[in-house]
Amino acid sequence: MKILLLGGGGREHALAWKIAQSKKVEKLYIAPGNAGTGSVGENVAIGVNEFDKLKDFAVKNEIDIVVVGPEDPLVKGVYDEFKNDPRTKDIPVIGPSKQGAVLEGSKDFAKAFMERHNIPTAKYHTFDGTTLEEGLKFLETLKAPYVLKADGLAAGKGVLILPTLEEAKKEFKDMLGGMFGNASAKVVIEEYLSGIECSVFVLTDGKHYQILPEAKDYKRIGEHDTGLNTGGMGSVTPVPFATKEWMKKVEERIIKPTVNGLAEENIDYKGFIFFGLINVEGEPMVIEYNCRMGDPETESVMLRLKSDIVDLFEGVANGNLDKYTVEFDERAAVCVMLVSGGYPEEYVKGYPISGIDQVEGSIVFHSGTAVKDGQVVTNGGRVIAVSSYGKDKEEALQKSFQEAQKIEFKDKYFRKDIGQDL
Ligand code: ATP
Repeated sequence: MKILLLGGGGREHALAWKIAQSKKVEKLYIAPGNAGTGSVGENVAIGVNEFDKLKDFAVKNEIDIVVVGPEDPLVKGVYDEFKNDPRTKDIPVIGPSKQGAVLEGSKDFAKAFMERHNIPTAKYHTFDGTTLEEGLKFLETLKAPYVLKADGLAAGKGVLILPTLEEAKKEFKDMLGGMFGNASAKVVIEEYLSGIECSVFVLTDGKHYQILPEAKDYKRIGEHDTGLNTGGMGSVTPVPFATKEWMKKVEERIIKPTVNGLAEENIDYKGFIFFGLINVEGEPMVIEYNCRMGDPETESVMLRLKSDIVDLFEGVANGNLDKYTVEFDERAAVCVMLVSGGYPEEYVKGYPISGIDQVEGSIVFHSGTAVKDGQVVTNGGRVIAVSSYGKDKEEALQKSFQEAQKIEFKDKYFRKDIGQDL
């Protein structure tokens, strides 16, 4: 089987690593890939949003399945592009249709969907420029802290949590005034929920679903969750509070109504659903949906997925995902992200990276790397994920921290408190 994977980050390296383990795979291409994906498949110099070029490539190379890593091409409709072209209509794309990706692309849509299907989430209202005054009044009815969300995609920066009513009112006006461009033309104001977060991942064929290992990620740059938000500084799986009983609640109250809701609303959705959950006094509630796997969660979750992922993709493609079972590795798995000094603000790219070949006890996934004159160099804020197994998270973390020391590049930084709050 020939597979084309779209994307070029740590998530895609981890997916490529897992896909390449399948006996069914004869050839794996990654577009555009990175310095790491080239070691498990063949990189193709096509961007994730270059749909015509991707379709030409898929036809010419007789691709059997396309797997989409990031949200951007999904929100832009890569699934529909393949489906609506007579040349590519029979090539299954693992990822939702443009309509399905709106679950991530519009927070207003996601909240309204949850309301329609009785899925537990924070109380909310959505406002636009014509209802600014009502928005200010609604803020007055809530308690601090105040949660404001740009409706559209804002590169992970569109959520503000404000400690005072004054600040919340000011930021609300600024958001509607174009702070995040068109993404904040509508703003969701919602009740603040207090609890620990957990990411739950599901693969669905639109009717059936399979639950993958859950994970917790660490978003802030500073230790003990301080400082600016990043794409993610590390992840841990399993999550101790995600017990069988808790996961049963997640399945009954959140996963089933979501998958059934998509089907009832005739939304074509065949791919990953990422449930960003929060545990409020033992009860799971939804913070957000994403229409793809998480990064850096994938870099630990893939380690714990024992089943052949290509079997599962076939199940999605054929609409018989219920015929398969998902086996979890009993061990813990973690990922520690090595980032460029200065990230998530300004940082320098192009520093040589050494020591990757010295790593023995961990699995290295490239995130922001490139090859320049035969040398692997830094090429992004998040540079390398160091992932490890352990009998428990402590053992896995110890391995990742130890191996992280061997990889060197100028101004390397990583959080040393990943997993400590669990
Ligand atoms: P990302 O791109 O990082 O996944 P996002 O921009 O899509 O995030 P959300 O996940 O909705 O936005 O919110 C970002 C973070 O803000 C959440 O991970 C959570 O920590 C916090 N947050 C969001 N909504 C709430 C809420 N109602 N109560 C408490 N915290 C919240």
